[in-house]
Amino acid sequence: MKLALRTIRTDEDPILRKKSRTVEKFDDRLKTLIEDMYETMDEAQGVGLAAPQIGILKRLIVIDDNADTRTVLINPEIVEKDGSEVSYEACLSVPEKQGEVERATHIIVDYVDADNNKKQMEATDMLARILQHEIDHLNGILYTDIAKNVYVVTAEEKEE
Ligand code: ZN
Repeated sequence: MKLALRTIRTDEDPILRKKSRTVEKFDDRLKTLIEDMYETMDEAQGVGLAAPQIGILKRLIVIDDNADTRTVLINPEIVEKDGSEVSYEACLSVPEKQGEVERATHIIVDYVDADNNKKQMEATDMLARILQHEIDHLNGILYTDIAKNVYVVTAEEKEE
């Protein structure tokens, strides 16, 4: 299978503001899209990527929190959330910025996998934050909409 890097949409691209549609077809095209999203996320060194960020309005996210949890979540729904913490976030679609965002510290997410099997994921802290950020993308919400503060990060301040 030939993998393809997809272009990450940024800034004022109106597609980032649209609500994504429920995935209903679990076919080879979906599997190719998932592989492309993994590839694009890895290349950008992201910890998560939502389909609308590559211009596809489908309810599908991939995450990679560097703890062996590279996973695709299709049609994810947060069914439980509690706790609250303000911490830093950044987004591949909002380059050279970061902000402080309040998120739940513990969530439970229902979703289906690439073969439409029902799954559930319980997440805390950083992983919970990543999931809430990516699921917001499916509803056209960027972290900058809900951040307490947004800062410009210059290239020199960025970690290599
Ligand atoms: Zn993002």
